[in-house]
This record gives sequence, structure tokens and C-alpha cells, in this order.
Amino acid sequence: MSAPQLHPRTIDEVRTRAELVDVVSERVVLRKAGRDFKGLCPFHEDRNPSFFVSPTKQIYKCFSCGASGDVFKFVMELDKSSFSEVVLELARRYGVSVQMLGGEQKAEYTRRLSKRQQLGEIVELAAQFYSYALWGERGSEARSYLLAKRALTEKTIRDFRLGYAPQGWQTLYTYLVEQKRFPAALVEEAGLIVARTSGSGYYDRFRHRLMIPICDGKGQVIAFGGRAMGDDEPKYLNSPESELFDKGQTLFALHAAREAVSRTDTAIVVEGYFDAIALHQAGIAQVVATLGTALRADQIKQLLRYSESKRVVLNFDGDQAGIKAAERAIGELRMLAVKSGVQLRILTLPTGKDPDEFLRAHPPQEYLRLAGEAPLWVDWQIERFFAGRDLTSAAELQQVSQQLVELLSGLMGSITRTHYIHLIAGRLSGGNGRLASQLEDELRRRIRTHRWGGDSQRAKKREPFPPACYQAEVQLLQIYLHFPEYREDIHQGLEENELEFSVLHHRQLWQKILELREQMGSDEDVVVALRTLYAGDPELNGRLGQLLWLNEHNRIALMRPRMVIRAGLATLQLDRCERRYAYLNQLCDEAEQRGAWEESDYFVEQRNEEYHRINALKSHLTLKLGESSETVLWQESP
Ligand SMILES: [Zn+2]
Repeated sequence: MSAPQLHPRTIDEVRTRAELVDVVSERVVLRKAGRDFKGLCPFHEDRNPSFFVSPTKQIYKCFSCGASGDVFKFVMELDKSSFSEVVLELARRYGVSVQMLGGEQKAEYTRRLSKRQQLGEIVELAAQFYSYALWGERGSEARSYLLAKRALTEKTIRDFRLGYAPQGWQTLYTYLVEQKRFPAALVEEAGLIVARTSGSGYYDRFRHRLMIPICDGKGQVIAFGGRAMGDDEPKYLNSPESELFDKGQTLFALHAAREAVSRTDTAIVVEGYFDAIALHQAGIAQVVATLGTALRADQIKQLLRYSESKRVVLNFDGDQAGIKAAERAIGELRMLAVKSGVQLRILTLPTGKDPDEFLRAHPPQEYLRLAGEAPLWVDWQIERFFAGRDLTSAAELQQVSQQLVELLSGLMGSITRTHYIHLIAGRLSGGNGRLASQLEDELRRRIRTHRWGGDSQRAKKREPFPPACYQAEVQLLQIYLHFPEYREDIHQGLEENELEFSVLHHRQLWQKILELREQMGSDEDVVVALRTLYAGDPELNGRLGQLLWLNEHNRIALMRPRMVIRAGLATLQLDRCERRYAYLNQLCDEAEQRGAWEESDYFVEQRNEEYHRINALKSHLTLKLGESSETVLWQESP
């Protein structure tokens, strides 16, 4: 490789002139923190600002993931570009003249421009060409469409650099290839011209269309959206993906929204280019638009860099298609919301309007008010489940509650779950308090089962129930019944670990015990009461006999109740973790097969946590079983 080298003087000069804080703050919202600046780290999923930039030392450092370096390293790592690319790019921005080792400057510099930079230059020239056409004679129809039909001001049209691709097959081609002498193949790669299928030559991709430049986060044009002025199909045509333009990573108007997202700490995502433009014109600048494709997690991640509280409002159209799109987006972003604490909200404008239409009939404040009140995605989803359902029909009720169980099972944090369980039970019960608390128990039980993989295929295929777990349940119940001073320990242990008995008649007995406790106000005589209760039922009495009456053999096995309780709880936890591990494994495979990487990453992470939990429990169990220092307790049963 005889690649020409940058002159060290150039590198030094770029290093001196490029201001790290400026460069960083294009990608990260920075706030002053003493002499330094801090913000959310762009190199890991940062929840609290742990990324520091020092203007005096010209270095950055993340105290969570350890990323650190100077201005060159920052851009190299974030943009995945090479050292010389970064130096050249910064040199251009800071007006540093480039010198190469060996003398031949300009020619080398041009040659050293990466493909990316060459494409960028072509696309930028095309944007200028389209803009020129819009304001010239040929653009009159497009101009009046924008000014009259779309009610855009001249300033807005110029700010967004809207343009017009003229009629004719080779207008842009003539300009870029014949006049500006760019290689046709490169212009084709930029997505602006298309090779003819028959014969030779090229034709313009965009003809008689309104041109909407799509920029990267720095505001450089990387692609176009073209809206047909005539009856051409499709109505909206986007540039194809290129080395410059990755659809899944790009949001329309991100560069223009960045500052406002940071200031208002909210990002609004709409569906159409003109929705975003109309909102910006109305002074609501914290708005970006999707590129007419399904929203992806990577796109939202870009936005999150600028909002500290990670508030994202999705404002899709109120029609059926818009609701579908919102549901798809939730499906894609759910993991991000659950995992990274993104406050995902869904805004549906009244009477099914899109933002552009809405703004023509309402003041901007009204839009902001609705955006501020937009429900969290979970609440929105719950409303969707209830919408148009007849809950007096058992079948519909069943369907709705199954959907709810699945939704709530995916939520993190038992406080959040409890909140929603309470809310939903209240709603399903129609205000009947007693029914509500029954429903609440039922929902909680089903969510637990679901969460721990009880419903999964693999869980069903597993052995019915490990003997060790059966034994653990028996012993916990025996201690509970016959060693009253340990009752609270068991009660708490089950509650805290969200454990419950898996064997049906154990679960029934436990239910009965809790009921008796409630009825009698204490559980002092619970064994007597149970013996009386089951005396009339020989079958149950037979099955529960070893629990209600302790024989000498059992009594010896329970000689150290505290240790038995701990081991019993750990055994049940272990079983549950193993089931969950298998379940997560399955979810992982499924997500991978669907190509849902965000989701599969999440499951892998969860699975690994489960793995550590399993190991910890196992070592805990061997330790406990080997322990023998506990006082022997010998308790008479009542
Ligand atoms: Zn970090």
C-alpha cells in the first residue's frame, strides 16, 4: 500500500482547531458540570449522564463503560471511520489546509476522499440543483403547491431546502455527469440516476417530483424523498440505500430537531415529511419523521441521545393504518422502553387527523397540550384491547384478559405491574370491589405463570415436577403447620420471592390456610381447623395426611426448620429459574429467527442473568445443606 500520508503539521493543526466540545455536542446533549461538561454516553446505553468532556484537556471519558480519548478517536469510533478520514473531514470543517507527505496536495486530497465523501458531494450538488429548479421558471407548479396547498412559507421551504426535480429524463444527469464531470457510476450509486435496462445510458430517478432532502445528524444531505407532482406512482419515492444512506438509521429532520429535543426534553416522531415540516413551521421543532418505513429501535436510539428523560411521543395518523403502524412501532420499541426506561407515549389526534391537517384548524399550543397528555404506550395498548369489546361476553372477556396477561408479563418492575393489575381488575370488575380483588389475584397468578414460562411449549415438555421440589413444598407446609414460630418466615419467603406452590393440592391447602387466617384473625388453631375440615373428605385427607399429622420420621427430617425453610425456598427458586432459563432460550431462538435483534439481545441478557442466579442458588444450596451449626428445635405440634 502506497497510501499517501497526512502531514503531521496538518494533523496537529486540526487537533488544535477542532473544539472537542463542539464536535461532541453535535451528537450528545452536554450540560455544564463544573469546569467540564457531562451528558449521556453515546457508546453505551447510558441511563444517567456518565460521559464527561473536558474542554481544558480536550479529552472525553465515560465513567460507566470506560470509553475515552480525543476528538479524533471520538469521531472515529462513533462514525466508524478511519483516522485519515476523520482528519480530512475535520480539516474541511475547520478550514485547515491539507498537506500530504510528498507534496502533491490537492490531487491526493481528492483521491483520498472516501467513497462516502464523494457521494456526499454529489448528493449536495443535486440538492442545490433541485432547489435552483424550484425557484426558477420550471418550478412554478411545485412552488404554488408548497405555498398554497401546503401553506408553507418561503422561509420554511428554504430552511428545509425543498426542491423540484424537473420533467425530462436526463436533466440531473446532464448537470452532474456532463457538466460537472462526475462518473456516471458514482451518480448511480448515489441513487440519483438509473441505468437503462435496454441498451446503454442512464435516466434520472426523480422526474417531475417535489424533492425533500434527507440529512444526517450533522445536517448534510444524504438522500431524497420525492413526492410525485402528477399521477406517477409511487406517490413518495425515496433514494435507495447507499454507502451514505442507511434507512434504518436515519430520521427525517433530526438535525433540525436536535436542539429543540434537548431543550424540551421530548422528541415527537411523526409519519410524514410534510407533517414534520408543518410542525417545525409552527414552532414545534422537536419533531422528526420516519421515512415511510416501519420505525426501528436504532432510529429511536439516535433521538435518545438528546433527551435526558427519554420522552418519545409517537404521533401516527388516527386512521386504521396509523394505528397499525403505532402497534408495529410498539412491538419494535417495547424492549427499548422496558430495558432503557424510554417513556414511550402514543399520541392519536382527535378525528383521525394527521398533524399537518390538525395544525391548519388548531393553534400549535393545542397540539403541544395533546402531546403532553399522550398516554404511555402501556395505557394506550390497554385501551386498544378494551376498544369495542363486549366484556359481558365470556369469550371476549377471556380474550381481553389473555392479551392483558401477555402485555403485563413483559413489564419490568413489580410496582409497575401491580399498578396495572389493580387498574385493570378495577375496570374488568365494573366497580364490584369483591370481584375486583378476585380478578386481581387471578391476574397476578396468571402473569406469574406466564412470566416464569409456565405456558411455554418447552416448559410443558419438561418433566412433570422434580421430586426435590415436591419434597421442598411438603416440608415448607409441614413446618408452617407444625412449627408456628416459623410461619412468618415462610410467608415472607414466599411473598418476597414471588414463589407459589406448584402441586395442585399444595396450592389448594395454602389457599385454605390463608383463608382460615383471615377468617379466624389468627392462625393459631389452623391445624385443628384443617383436620376438622378435611375429615369429611377421605380422598383429600389421604393426600394431605402427611402434612396434617407428622410422623416420627418427618419430625426428624425437620429437625432444623430454619435451614429446611431456606433450602426449600432455594429449591423452588432454582426450579423456577431453570424453567425460565429454558423459556428465555426459546424466546431468544424465536427472536433470532424473526431477525428481531434488539429483542434477542434483550433475551440473551435476561438469560445470562438467570444463569448467574442459577449458579448462585446452586452454591447456596450446597452450602446450606452442608451447614450444621443450627440449633435443634423440637416443637410439639398442637
Ligand atoms: Zn459509556
